[in-house]
Amino acid sequence: MSSAFDTRLAADAGAPTHEVFNQSEPLAGANLFTGDAALRDALAFHAPAVGADALAGLAALGEEAGSAPLQAHARLANVHPPVLHTHDRVGRRVDEVEFHPSYGALMDRVTAHGLHGTPWADGPGGHLRRAAGFIVFTQLEPSVMCPVSMTYAATPALQANPALHADWAARVAARAYDARPLPVAAKRAVTLGMGMTEKQGGSDVRANTTRAERDGEDAWGERFRLVGHKWFFSAPQSDAHLVLAQAPGGLSCFFVPRWLPDGTRNAVQVQRLKDKLGNHANASSEVEFRGAFGWRVGEEGRGVPQILAMGALTRMDCALGTAGLMRQALCLALHHTAQRQAFGKPVAGHPLMRNVLADLALESEAATALALRVARSVDRTEHGQDPTGHEALMRRLLTPVAKYWVCKRGSHFAQEAMECLGGNGYVEEGGHGVMARVYREMPLNSIWEGAGTIMALDLLRSLQGPQGGPAAEALAAELAPARGAHAAFDRLADALPARLDGGTAEPDARALARDVALAVQAALLRQHAPDAVFTAFCDSRLARPESLAAFGSLPAAAPFDALVQRAHPTA
Ligand SMILES: Cc1cc2nc3c(=O)[nH]c(=O)nc-3n(C[C@H](O)[C@H](O)[C@H](O)COP(=O)(O)OP(=O)(O)OC[C@H]3O[C@@H](n4cnc5c(N)ncnc54)[C@H](O)[C@@H]3O)c2cc1C
Repeated sequence: MSSAFDTRLAADAGAPTHEVFNQSEPLAGANLFTGDAALRDALAFHAPAVGADALAGLAALGEEAGSAPLQAHARLANVHPPVLHTHDRVGRRVDEVEFHPSYGALMDRVTAHGLHGTPWADGPGGHLRRAAGFIVFTQLEPSVMCPVSMTYAATPALQANPALHADWAARVAARAYDARPLPVAAKRAVTLGMGMTEKQGGSDVRANTTRAERDGEDAWGERFRLVGHKWFFSAPQSDAHLVLAQAPGGLSCFFVPRWLPDGTRNAVQVQRLKDKLGNHANASSEVEFRGAFGWRVGEEGRGVPQILAMGALTRMDCALGTAGLMRQALCLALHHTAQRQAFGKPVAGHPLMRNVLADLALESEAATALALRVARSVDRTEHGQDPTGHEALMRRLLTPVAKYWVCKRGSHFAQEAMECLGGNGYVEEGGHGVMARVYREMPLNSIWEGAGTIMALDLLRSLQGPQGGPAAEALAAELAPARGAHAAFDRLADALPARLDGGTAEPDARALARDVALAVQAALLRQHAPDAVFTAFCDSRLARPESLAAFGSLPAAAPFDALVQRAHPTA
């Protein structure tokens, strides 16, 4: 008996036990720009001046970012995270971070598309083109967007030191990636980073203890020596960081290159790399300054406003990046649920799942709309296209609002999108499970560059003093195009001016940031999305705010098919 059983087992050992079917294929080959109707419509609305060349560039970027070869690089850069080498084989200090070649391949492409320091040398529309590109490239790989964003944000600060600007600006704008550890003069292209956060305080940078002592003057201006540390110092391989330190005249901003002009390494020691939840392809380090040379950028004692100006740009990027991650998660959910069958039809064909997908599509489009609106305000103000000052007010008001609300919705969104894939959504399997990577990435944009409460408080700060009145008026003007189109929208728009004009106490700041975001998103959708999108957005988020608690809560009469169809990546 037992020997007959063993024989049967042996015979079956190599035979298939079942057929693998009803599993979805990976999403590859979609153009992430041309296939994104929400992004294209928002861009056309905000930047009618973005010409055919720029659109062709974005279409080329969209094709690359959606391609299987670059997706393979994204996977490899994440499953082979950077490694720190503090010393060389014979004991010399080197502080080098070694990256998988796929990281370099991604950096090559993102810089070739000019998403880092390039827009500052572009004409009108350049920041919007870049914002759309940022949304697209994030869907390929968000970790590389950290040095890209810091380089973008730090570039204008260099103008405060003309000598540094003269030596660095062209290389920051170059559409190339040059990873070689060399002084600036020997490099084709450079990237920049930013160092503010210390162990004892990140939001409250006034608590910084790193000291800067005067050391003389040279071609780059007043030179200081820095002693202290940074607890978070992303992309330590960057060619220079803008660093906050306490100078005799108060907290100031310093330009700290990795290599000194004489060809020696600056005294910035990388202690270790952070072991992070996500963002695995990016190196985030802890560093110590051991008498590192830093050149003053801007006035002594004015470091906080200077860093805040940079922070406003990286905060916009957090909203753009989250809009990109939402779009990516949505596409993965739409792609999977169209293929996967359950109870006799595609998962996407079931009415309740259609509600979930349509609701996610609405959120994704609204996030894109608000993030691009901020980019438009940057583009207009930077190019002197703001005769009434409206764009400057919107830039100040909507940057913290977009960073707060879009990023706050991100993790919630990723969780729901992951659920659309069922158990497969939770599995990474060597980096092939992209949805799980998106989910781990999502909270980061909400935390760095100022967490949620800090954003809401920044909104209140933007309204303090004489700003409150003009901001309320400017917001009313911003909302005017959607007036009369939906009763719930009108109710919210009526209530907001009093809350902006000094009527909001600190504990209510998050609710204000949420409501300003929802009102502006609705007004934008009214102007550049189909009516179905605007109406469904107002019917849910404005008329039934409880629907914000869980996706899939659109009214039963919502035009699910139209909403899903518009969002589909292959549409
Ligand atoms: C992966 C990663 C990379 C990073 N890279 C960099 C980098 O390259 N350079 C850099 O400088 N920093 C970097 N950071 C640091 C990041 O910007 C900070 O973590 C962030 O600003 C929050 O600061 P903190 O961690 O000190 O938190 P804290 O300041 O201690 O804040 C903790 C919580 O308290 C809240 N809070 C603080 N003050 C108030 C208040 N007045 N009212 C109400 N709530 C308040 C905050 O919103 C937050 O929720 C990075 C962080 C991460 C996670």
